[in-house]
Amino acid sequence: MQTSFTTRLFLGILFFVGIIMGIGVYQDALGIVWFLVVLGMMAGLLFRSYRIARSAAVAFNPQWREVLASKVSFYQDLDRSDQAVFEERVAVFFSTIKITAVDFELDDECRLLVAASSIVPFWDLPRWQYGSLQEVIVYSGHFDENYQISEDHHILGMVGSGGNMDHVMLLSKPALYSGFDNKTNKNHVGFHEFAHLLDKSDGDVDGIPELFLPKEMVNPWTKLVHREIGRIKADESDINPYGATSDAEFFAVISEYYHKRPHLLEKKHPDLFKMLQMIYHPQIVEG
Ligand SMILES: [Zn+2]
Repeated sequence: MQTSFTTRLFLGILFFVGIIMGIGVYQDALGIVWFLVVLGMMAGLLFRSYRIARSAAVAFNPQWREVLASKVSFYQDLDRSDQAVFEERVAVFFSTIKITAVDFELDDECRLLVAASSIVPFWDLPRWQYGSLQEVIVYSGHFDENYQISEDHHILGMVGSGGNMDHVMLLSKPALYSGFDNKTNKNHVGFHEFAHLLDKSDGDVDGIPELFLPKEMVNPWTKLVHREIGRIKADESDINPYGATSDAEFFAVISEYYHKRPHLLEKKHPDLFKMLQMIYHPQIVEG
């Protein structure tokens, strides 16, 4: 688990502080208060790690292999040992993120496609665990700003913001499926929404995933984004025009393109491709 190292480190520090404070326990009342506070925090953290460890017990069901092999081309192209790593990540995803269907019966296929959307783009960033995401909510169709479903509605996916919505991602089921089924277009709502989460990991959904881009690359990246948005607006680009809505949407849209049609992107937009390699596959760039 991603959090276990941090948790253990934190527990270790707390334990140390606890001992130091414990020494003072019999010296004054403040020492006792400190000791109790530290003890309480340790109990809380222990309970949290216990809950994570217990929930991580979800095992990968071998029957899921068939779904992944037929639907997820990235999985098909992996060798057996990497497929096993993929399967492990599916189990971890299911253990830590709740998946809910709003108005249809959720099946394993749909759940697996949600998990795959979270694994494929970040294959080389396994330490990143989707920030504060706790739940993915799937709708049977496209929806509107009030989360109402209708054929006329246009929203395919959304990362919530503010209050409880900070922990939620919404996806339209047909859009999720079409991301995997259509192999030739540049659209994938799952990759799009998870790209927003990566962008959000530095606190701002601003199209600059600062934690994943070398500092000196932030300016060149922004310039590149603005140049390309200009081209989209002038109708001179093959990038989805929705990317011209804002820098944040550009990052999500270009991430879809990158993960779905990497060779095409490399051919048509080598400079953008290089930047995305740096963000999503840092070790390839360094190595
Ligand atoms: Zn978006």
